[in-house]
Amino acid sequence: MKNTDRIVIAGAGPIGLICAHRLAGMGIPVLVVDKSTVIPTDLRASTWHPATLDMLEEIGVTSYILEKGAKAPTWQYRFRDTGERAIFDLRVLSNETRHPYRVQCEQFHIVRYLAEKLSDFDNAEIRWGTQAVDVGQDDDCAWLDVECEGERERLTGRLVIGADGGRSIIREKLGIGFEGKTYEAITMVAITDFPFEDHFEGLSGVNYIWTEYSNFSLLRVPDRWRSGITPKPGQTPEEALSDDSLEAHFQAIVPRDDRYDILARGMYSTHQMVAERFNVGRILLAGDAAHLNSPNGGLGMNTGVHDAFNLTEKISGVWQGDNGLDLFDRYTRQRKAIAIEYAHKISDANHFRMRERDPVKRRVIMDEMKRITGDDTLMREWLMNSSMINSVRHAAEIT
Ligand SMILES: Cc1cc2nc3c(=O)[nH]c(=O)nc-3n(C[C@H](O)[C@H](O)[C@H](O)COP(=O)(O)OP(=O)(O)OC[C@H]3O[C@@H](n4cnc5c(N)ncnc54)[C@H](O)[C@@H]3O)c2cc1C
Repeated sequence: MKNTDRIVIAGAGPIGLICAHRLAGMGIPVLVVDKSTVIPTDLRASTWHPATLDMLEEIGVTSYILEKGAKAPTWQYRFRDTGERAIFDLRVLSNETRHPYRVQCEQFHIVRYLAEKLSDFDNAEIRWGTQAVDVGQDDDCAWLDVECEGERERLTGRLVIGADGGRSIIREKLGIGFEGKTYEAITMVAITDFPFEDHFEGLSGVNYIWTEYSNFSLLRVPDRWRSGITPKPGQTPEEALSDDSLEAHFQAIVPRDDRYDILARGMYSTHQMVAERFNVGRILLAGDAAHLNSPNGGLGMNTGVHDAFNLTEKISGVWQGDNGLDLFDRYTRQRKAIAIEYAHKISDANHFRMRERDPVKRRVIMDEMKRITGDDTLMREWLMNSSMINSVRHAAEIT
């Protein structure tokens, strides 16, 4: 029997679950499947930008992000050795957003919260340990073929959303191209609870720091600091994440007699890619399934959240019969342009700016950053892009 009275979503990451919440809240039944049996607690997204915090208020998630996270009203570029810095102050955006700050809150807290809260809806269901293995569609419905404990089943719905991450099986089975590049640098993160704020003068909640030969970041999440690590020349990522190397990394930031407690560590390949299209008939892609970018600047998940809001709005129109499936062509036009013109462009510039080694070029960058942060109009222009307010407004203008 075909079930055309629901939407089937592959992937219970942040983007699949935000789609599910918004649709269930609109009265549209949803079934979410995820191949995992537990919610991963890996060290991926932690930054929530102003535009996203404004958006997520509607589904009641912003207050939870604020409760679990740490507000960062400023962020900075800095030379470690001299302490010279350029400080970007998001408060200049207070006429543009209800949240003129970044919030640092780890992605897994919000995924866990979204998964739990979905059970408040009687028209929403999540099936864990259920892996999408194929996808298809006909004139009336779309389906996911899934496997759970060795059993195969076909799950039909009026539409299918592929929110199944960067290695999306939905994208692959549809034969949608996913073009771009893989960065040479591996992204590495380590966490410690050492209170750097008491020992390192003038830190912001988010800090991008140059050392003589390298660079690192320090991001404040409640009760701990996340540090982005760059291997020393000649070091492999595995060596850079070893106990001794992490110890040397943190000792170089603040020397101390005791060893640092490393609470978690992780490494990730970094890509910049975009799907050829985000819609094929009744099957839609959102989040990392549709686009990937360098984590520098914290844009990937935020861009995916904006996809989710744009897409669910259109699904509502199609569900009620006000629009045909061709409305999703506009979804592709809008969100693909934003992935390329904003997420890719901004994160790529951040990626290489941070990794600049040449002292002369660094000096030019720092002088430019100080010129911008010294002028509220220029700083506002910069932050309208990095805080993703411009990208949401620009998407709305794309017909
Ligand atoms: C180190 C690092 C730091 C980052 N920091 C930030 C940041 O600060 N801010 C930001 O905006 N972004 C950041 N990102 C990017 C962010 O983590 C991703 O953009 C985000 O996780 C995308 O969410 P998603 O729901 O699309 O995909 P995912 O989070 O990958 O979720 C996909 C889900 O689909 C499930 N799945 C996969 N295949 C199948 C299948 N075949 N069947 C069923 N289920 C399946 C998976 O189990 C998973 O639960 C960072 C990334 C990294 C690596």
